[in-house]
Amino acid sequence: MSASILLCIMFLFAFQEDSFKKKREELVEQHIMQRGIKDQAVIRSMKNVKRHLFVPENNVSNAYADRPLPIGYGQTISQPFIVAYMTEVINPKPEYKVLEIGTGSGYQAAVLAEIVKEVYTIEIIPELGNAAAARLKKLGYNNINVKVSDGYFGWKEHGPYDAIIVTAAAEFIPPPLIEQLKEGGKIVIPIGSPFMNQTLMLIEKKGKKITTKSLMPVVFVPFTRKKE
Ligand code: SAH
Repeated sequence: MSASILLCIMFLFAFQEDSFKKKREELVEQHIMQRGIKDQAVIRSMKNVKRHLFVPENNVSNAYADRPLPIGYGQTISQPFIVAYMTEVINPKPEYKVLEIGTGSGYQAAVLAEIVKEVYTIEIIPELGNAAAARLKKLGYNNINVKVSDGYFGWKEHGPYDAIIVTAAAEFIPPPLIEQLKEGGKIVIPIGSPFMNQTLMLIEKKGKKITTKSLMPVVFVPFTRKKE
């Protein structure tokens, strides 16, 4: 390849990256902050993580629209506002260890990993889990650990966690997740029937007491269980 063609490709690449950055800033400022997200660490992370690298190639042009997008196997990458909201609601701190159930594309894990010390994430569909692990490694996120498994059981070896984020709608809170939560920790989870009547819930563990709070209506893909 001649030097001038190579230069031209590099220029186009830089131009495209710049245009994605601009769109990302617009998305964060005009949708995410506009709708009330205030945590500076969350805002910074949403501006940093390149969502266009987490969506299938044929949908890259929609990567910075504030909506979920298909990622294959009937699953979706969540809407950016919801990702920001769920991240803010656990009140993430730099020293936190967070468990995510439903790795999907790995986007939510990346948003968390920019803020907290360690992220553990579980995906039930092997193809998605393996692709996300490879993507996150390529992007240099060495504080994210991906496991292909049924997230119902959590990831006991690395617990207890400061917070747990579940990104698929369950009919009830899996008891192992409550067990693996630290004292004073938070779980954010959509509860309800598949694709309808779901509520995003915030669970807090205070002593022997568990408090629950409804946050907002949401639509998530279903939390599935491994067939024996
Ligand atoms: N957090 C993801 C969103 C993925 S959608 C992202 O940022 O892209 C929810 C994901 O949860 C799907 O990939 C689905 O396969 C997965 N899932 C559903 N039930 C699960 C379970 N029991 N354990 C682990 N993952 C599960």
